[in-house]
Amino acid sequence: MKCAPTITTQPTSQTVTEGETATFTVVTSGTEPLSYQWQQSTGSGQIWTDIDGATDATYITATTTTNMNGTQYRCVVSNSAGSVISNVATLTVNEHVHTWGNPVWNWSEDGKTCTVTFTCQNDETHKETPAVTVASAVKTPATCTETGVTTYIATVEFNGQTHTDTKEVADIPATGHSYENGKCTVCGGIDPAFKSMIIEGANGKWQKGSEDALSFTSNAAFADFLKVQIDGKDVDSSNYTVKEGSTIVTLKTSYLETLPVGKHTLAIVSDTGTAETEFTVVAAEKQVVDDESANDKAASDSDKESLAKTGDGSMLPITVPSILAVVSIATGVFALRRSRI
Ligand SMILES: [Zn+2]
Ligand SMILES: [Zn+2]
Repeated sequence: MKCAPTITTQPTSQTVTEGETATFTVVTSGTEPLSYQWQQSTGSGQIWTDIDGATDATYITATTTTNMNGTQYRCVVSNSAGSVISNVATLTVNEHVHTWGNPVWNWSEDGKTCTVTFTCQNDETHKETPAVTVASAVKTPATCTETGVTTYIATVEFNGQTHTDTKEVADIPATGHSYENGKCTVCGGIDPAFKSMIIEGANGKWQKGSEDALSFTSNAAFADFLKVQIDGKDVDSSNYTVKEGSTIVTLKTSYLETLPVGKHTLAIVSDTGTAETEFTVVAAEKQVVDDESANDKAASDSDKESLAKTGDGSMLPITVPSILAVVSIATGVFALRRSRI
């Protein structure tokens, strides 16, 4: 006995988002073989047309678009005993709404350019790459020896929001030292190539009793001056003066008088190194007064001779006037000194 087809489960209306497919199914009974033909209507069921190839119990639509919204579907089921038409099912296609994920930044190595990609979380084939603006700012300035760091800031306006990303690049070259007189004017670093030396007054000589102080000049900067050493020992600063140009140390005569006759070493110690030399202290001349005399040198010579022979009575008449002459000269010098005060 043949039975005409009946539909035990009707197709149901489907709601999808554009880009998806929709699936319609009928469940039937009836004498095999059964044939199926799905139909669609875009005019509210006025006109139905067969869908090519839609000849199974299940029909899967093509990828949907919003144009397909409202399309109706039904299935005609047939066998040798007759045919039946299913209920109508309606397709609703909702517009796809992008849900953008977090930006994915792609920096160039040097930080100067950057791109960004937004991917739709509802459909990863939806990607947007809006234009990025890159600005830069110094994060850490370069020093004499260390490279500085630049912060690059990428900014993008997308979907009503501002997104930023940063990249740090150590791309500011170190400035190198600015040495002046052996010292860096920026960081205070000492120039390893700088050689401290006495540029004036090296190997000086000082005679005891001299009123002239003894000066030495080091090529080190005055600002870098630390101390003076004589014969390897620190000299109290009350014993010398120090002034600029580059570094001029003047030993006071009162101190020089305390040094034994002979050779001594002098060191001007600065931040930038030690300048060393030697100097000699020589004994006072015995005839200081004669030396200073502007009078007839021949007379002085004879005085020395005469004085050397003091004690020889026969010479006394010559000697006395000579002594008087010496005394008068000494008095004159004394008067001269007083007048300077
Ligand atoms: Zn999307
Ligand atoms: Zn420096």
